[in-house]
Amino acid sequence: MKLSFQAYNLKLKHTFSIANFSRTETPIVLTQIEHNGLIGYGEASLPQYLGETQHSVCKFLEKVNLSNFDFQTNIEDITHYIDSIEAKNTAAKASIDIALHDLIGKAKNQTTRKMLGIKSNKRPFTSYTIGIDNEQIIRKKLKESEPYAILKIKVNQENWRETIDIIRSETQKPLFIDANQSWQCKEEALENINYLSTKNVLLIEQPFEKNNLDAHKWLSERSPIPIFADESIQRLSDIERIKQCFNGINIKLMKCTGINEALKMIKLARKYNLKIMLGCMTETSCAISAAAQLSPLVDFADLDGNLLITNDCFNGTKIKKGRISMKNSPGIGIEKLNIL
Ligand code: MG
Repeated sequence: MKLSFQAYNLKLKHTFSIANFSRTETPIVLTQIEHNGLIGYGEASLPQYLGETQHSVCKFLEKVNLSNFDFQTNIEDITHYIDSIEAKNTAAKASIDIALHDLIGKAKNQTTRKMLGIKSNKRPFTSYTIGIDNEQIIRKKLKESEPYAILKIKVNQENWRETIDIIRSETQKPLFIDANQSWQCKEEALENINYLSTKNVLLIEQPFEKNNLDAHKWLSERSPIPIFADESIQRLSDIERIKQCFNGINIKLMKCTGINEALKMIKLARKYNLKIMLGCMTETSCAISAAAQLSPLVDFADLDGNLLITNDCFNGTKIKKGRISMKNSPGIGIEKLNIL
């Protein structure tokens, strides 16, 4: 197998603001793995706060040698080799994992989900994200979000109540609330959540700082709405540490090195009765379609990263009436567009 890669910058439709920062572009690296005339596509998305850069991803990918592998090799053996090259670099590793699943699906003429033994046809709703903004822009984004059945609202300590009131003046759709670690006081958080429990909120993501597990445990035991870990969980090995402290986890391919490990996380989380959300970064339809392959197994999907950009270079998973709609073509079900 032969790996190649190139850097690319995703342009955002709107400046995207969450509790700690704003941005207008997201750097990514696109990968492809070729073997016997077939090509599998992958992607590493690199939002600043995760610490990987186009430079670090390219440096990592330069160390990868796939020449000893072919279609007979287990994906597990290849991902084990990739993971052993160096610690961290989770998005770089995910870019290889995704391309491998796409390539081997094409070689077997099967969708990735079929290859993984996923039989369920469940098509979860996906949420549409509204970042932190002024009232005028929030109302504009609410208009754009009309095709979606669930909204994910980014909030901070100061703006959450006002934001919810603006949203509830326009729509009664169910909401995910993401505080991105911005809430400080657990008693105040519980009060906030008691108010939100009257506002059709389905879950609260990452209220406190990621290492403050005690506060999350305290809140998860009392909250009428499930509390989900996002920044507090990256990989499979984190589940044991946080399983008592949250009601659910947000799994993202870029945090956990890709489809192979995400599937293991889903199985372990189910064993511990944790609810599961499948999330994303700002990504093209390549990484989104890869994550979508796992969506029949989860409770909630937040796979809107490709909808927030203007220069998607793939055609893949679409949203129909608010639900994820996957193609039945082999691999992760994408076509590359000629805009690169
Ligand atoms: Mg989050």
